[in-house]
Amino acid sequence: MKKILSLICIFSISLLLGSITKPISVKAAGEPNLHQLILTNNNCYIAGQYITPSGIMVHSTGANNPNLRRYLAPNDGLIGVNTGGNHWNQPTPDGQEKCVHAFIGKLADGTVATYQTLPWNMRGWHAGGAANNTHIGFEICEDDLTDANYFNAVYQEAIELCAYLCELYNFNPLADGVIIGHFEGYQLGIASNHADPGHWFSRYGKTMDDFRQDVYDEMNDTTTLYCVQVGAFSIRANAEALLEEIEAAGFDGYIKTYGALYCVQVGAFSIRANAEALLEEVEAAGFDAFIKIE
Ligand SMILES: [Zn+2]
Repeated sequence: MKKILSLICIFSISLLLGSITKPISVKAAGEPNLHQLILTNNNCYIAGQYITPSGIMVHSTGANNPNLRRYLAPNDGLIGVNTGGNHWNQPTPDGQEKCVHAFIGKLADGTVATYQTLPWNMRGWHAGGAANNTHIGFEICEDDLTDANYFNAVYQEAIELCAYLCELYNFNPLADGVIIGHFEGYQLGIASNHADPGHWFSRYGKTMDDFRQDVYDEMNDTTTLYCVQVGAFSIRANAEALLEEIEAAGFDGYIKTYGALYCVQVGAFSIRANAEALLEEVEAAGFDAFIKIE
């Protein structure tokens, strides 16, 4: 993670925020879009046992519902309302004793975010085995497993969450048994017999070895990128409208989310001069833009 650069990004975002009054969270590139909604009514939280975490177990839900509101309540203004009565902020969700430390999924507006749902050092009920005594467990909300964009977004968010936790607890992400999928926990004899998240990762050519290496790379990433930013909005539709304009003018643009802020950018260069050249082209085409360092 890039703390100093992150501060620069937060500063530049704060200049653009203006008079936004809706609930909003701003994250820096390279850090999880982390929110908190502790499941205080869940029997796991009420049991109130604590552990000294020594690793992280990655789960995926095994159900086609990418929305955080399926699992979380009450609505904090970002996740939306659970209407099925099946959220996990009750003693035995779905009639089961289960709870994890975090969920990754979609906010009501479609943005991917992480919600911490138990204190990281509380004993979770996620592994169905001894890993509950050692591992922080989080769920990635599955969709129908066919959307590559959603997979890439939650995979990246999971990397950033794990990098964050590894820094918090001084874990080595590449060490044996530290970051494991639920299915690997079963192979190690410390979790129940489930296939998650391997069945989903494999559809996109990812293994848990790839994931661990990606977490390591995230923690050791010192690459500076220079992006040309054309606008930043709290409403996605406004960002999409500007993106269309930019693309109509012949530029390849993209929307990057920082929490609930949608930034329209073109180009990402490791050499500043290249970004400056593109900035001139973008300005010549009539857009206000600046170079954003990531
Ligand atoms: Zn699992």
